[in-house]
Amino acid sequence: MAEFQHKAFGLAATDSSGVLSPFHFSRRDNGDDDVTIKILYCGVCHSDLHTVKNEWGFTQYPVVPGHEIAGVVTKIGNNVEKFKVGDRVGVGVIVNSCRTCDVCQQDLESYCAKMIFTYNSTDRDGTRTYGGYSDMVVVDQHFVLHFPENVPSDAGAPLLCAGITVYSPMKYYGMTEAGKHLGVAGLGGLGHVAVKFGKAFGLKVTVISSSPKKKAEALNKLGADAFVVSTDAAELEAASGTMDFIIDTIAAVHQLAPLLSLLKMNGKLVTVGLPEKPLDLPIFPLVAGRKMIGGSDFGGIKETQEMLDFCGKHGIAADIELIRADEINAAMERLAKSDVRYRFVIDVGNSLAKL
Ligand code: NAP
Ligand code: ZN
Repeated sequence: MAEFQHKAFGLAATDSSGVLSPFHFSRRDNGDDDVTIKILYCGVCHSDLHTVKNEWGFTQYPVVPGHEIAGVVTKIGNNVEKFKVGDRVGVGVIVNSCRTCDVCQQDLESYCAKMIFTYNSTDRDGTRTYGGYSDMVVVDQHFVLHFPENVPSDAGAPLLCAGITVYSPMKYYGMTEAGKHLGVAGLGGLGHVAVKFGKAFGLKVTVISSSPKKKAEALNKLGADAFVVSTDAAELEAASGTMDFIIDTIAAVHQLAPLLSLLKMNGKLVTVGLPEKPLDLPIFPLVAGRKMIGGSDFGGIKETQEMLDFCGKHGIAADIELIRADEINAAMERLAKSDVRYRFVIDVGNSLAKL
């Protein structure tokens, strides 16, 4: 492992058991375009869980997960004008891209063939990237985001992945027209923020969930208009053909046919969830209803800042369960069982050093 100036400490998984344990490593020196960030909070995304357990098959151990990073700037390079020491900032799913290709030029860095993930990636200098379950990080200023004043760092951290991953497709696929009907499949980290964005855009929002016990909260706390239990044939039948869009955040392999049946003619189902195996594609309902299935990832940097500013304007943040660093393995077990309201966030600043 390459050795650099900055000693860093975090939580790493070393094999596909996914168990996270204390890990010492180093971060690169702060270059001219870099910002050094003291990490205060980091959200726990289901992608972290897929990765530590190597469910997608491309994990390189040791891996320090975490791409919903909130912290404060402690150092800036000579070329940095966007940030100053003490600023409240965030880092999301990527820390670099080529910056010159067609998609980068369109501010769609998340689709750049050379983009570098915040963790489990190889950086340009050949070193491994390590994520936000750690005390500090050094990131090129282009990939660092400003937190609006009224978005808190703890409940705001999950916006850096969960938030943008649902905001970006809502914008791209036109799910922002007031009065349209949006279904949100899977009420977890991504799903619960999708409900909030849907309401902020003036949509009718129906949660489609496998967890009936989430119903009261979805309606009363998150502001959803309706709730459909995805295993209840009568409820599915009653909602059949009523939705203009569905955003599918389900983290596990599931059937698409029941979701497609909920769409109106010309309806769109956009999948952002990343189950470890392919899903069956039911052709008949697509053809018969001129329906569409699309995908989307976690958006570009410009749009991520736009999303954060939108959250500032509408008072949107995640609903979180704040955990200590030593609670991470128990939290991962609960996340695997869809048992979280609705995002775990590690209190890195107050608990990591005590490990
Ligand atoms: P999460 O908090 O675990 O939420 C996922 C939800 O899916 C669960 O709360 C549950 O909702 C539902 N679900 C899980 N297992 C299920 C099953 N077997 N059958 C039916 N429903 C099930 O996860 P997340 O952090 O929101 O992430 C969701 C997915 O998006 C993950 O696969 C993650 O890797 C992916 N992701 C993709 C991107 C991207 O760039 N496209 C970015 C971030 C995350 P109910 O209890 O309501 O049924
Ligand atoms: Zn994520």
